[in-house]
Order: sequence, then structure tokens, then C-alpha cells
Amino acid sequence: MRNHIVAGNWKMNLNAAESQKLIEDLKSKKLSSDVRVAIATPAVYLATAANQTANTKIGVAAQNMHQADSGAFTGEISASMLKSIGVHTTLLGHSERRAYFHETDELLAEKVNTALKNGMEIIFCFGEELDERKSESHFDVVTTQLRNALFHLDASQWSQIILAYEPVWAIGTGETASPEQAQEMHAHIRAVLAAQYDDALAQSISILYGGSVKPANAQEIFSQPDVDGGLIGGASLKADDFAAIVNAF
Ligand code: PEP
Repeated sequence: MRNHIVAGNWKMNLNAAESQKLIEDLKSKKLSSDVRVAIATPAVYLATAANQTANTKIGVAAQNMHQADSGAFTGEISASMLKSIGVHTTLLGHSERRAYFHETDELLAEKVNTALKNGMEIIFCFGEELDERKSESHFDVVTTQLRNALFHLDASQWSQIILAYEPVWAIGTGETASPEQAQEMHAHIRAVLAAQYDDALAQSISILYGGSVKPANAQEIFSQPDVDGGLIGGASLKADDFAAIVNAF
């Protein structure tokens, strides 16, 4: 059985007091026991968030990490630093990192290797741009992103990987992929994994959908057979909305 997972990506939002309040509000909500829940807070709040959520069902994840173990990389954060504050999961490859910080598939392959070497779990984000969807190259684009960043891994290393398909045209735009579009792509991703590895591995990987998921559309998206959860941006900043999305399974 694959894990159902709902992860919030707070991006660069909230001050320290707001962050702490949002976590306390979330802790007061009833969250489905069938769903794994995580929040990716800004890096400066991770240590506090990890303390605040200790002994709760809410996990904490980083939004990014550097590919080197340590060294002269001013402003960056390493896997071992994250682990030292109790953070064992990181997003990698978010479309905003790819677009604004020029993260390529090749760089992401390095980050993936460093994260895994350090025993971190990865929520790996990928997805096509609007022009790629319009030109119907979205399946090829997604296959290439997976191949370049992840297909050098051994099958055993995939136990630490969660996939998050996020069509770029649906992120923060209010435009959601239809449940059918999400299912079609998730089934494609699973077929690509089965061809590269085997069906058992493909069936074991949780594939999240991300892109303008809200309480109003979560249930329909999550009801698709190959959609195992969501990566939630804007709606993760409101405890009521995020809890409603978690409980949409
Ligand atoms: C995201 O940032 O990963 C995301 C899916 O954002 P939103 O839910 O706001 O579209």
C-alpha cells in the first residue's frame, strides 16, 4: 500500500510569530490518521517547527538544500545541518528553484545523491511548462526530467523518494489540472518507472499532485487511482484549508 501524503510548501511566506501560530493552529485540527502530513517551512523556522511538531503527526521538511556536504557556499544549507535540527526530508527541484535559481536536471541529480548519501528523504518536484503542454510534449518533458535526475539510482534508493508532479502552469495560478489530466500523467509516470525498474517499484512510489489544490478540488483529485496526495502551496498557509485538504482523502 502506498502512503497517502499531503505536504505544504510555505515558500517564502510568514514571519516567525505567524509561522508558530500556523503550526499551533494545525496541531489543534483533527487530521486524518490515514494521511502522512508534512510542512516545508522557510529554513529559518525549521528548527522551531521541528520542536513545535515533535510527537505530533506533522512532519517538517526543508524547501531546498545544497549539493555539497559543507564548505564555502555562503547562504546555503547542507543536508547534515538539516539533520542536526531533526529535519530528514527536503523538497528538491521545485519549479521556482528551476526557474529563478537555474536549477538544472544535472544539478538536481547531484542534490539527490547528496541527500540520499546523508540519509535524507526527498520530495522530488517536476512538471511541464504551459508551452510544453500546448505542444503536447508534456509526457516527454516529464520522462526526461525523471531520467536525468533520478534514473541513475538503484531500485533500493527509491524507498527514500516521493514524487511530486507539478505542472508549472497550475502553480499559484488558480488553474488546476483536471482530475483526468492529473491521473493521465501520474499513470504515465508509473509506467515509466515500471519500464525503467519494475512494476513492484512503480506501484510502491507515492506520486503527489501539486498545482492550485484547494479544499474545493482536493477530493476529486485525490480520488484518482494514481494520485497519492498533494503538494500544497497557497492553501497550506491557512490551517483550515490545509486541514480540509488533508482530510479530503
Ligand atoms: C507549490 O508551490 O508547490 C504549489 C503547488 O503551489 P500552489 O498550491 O499555490 O499552486
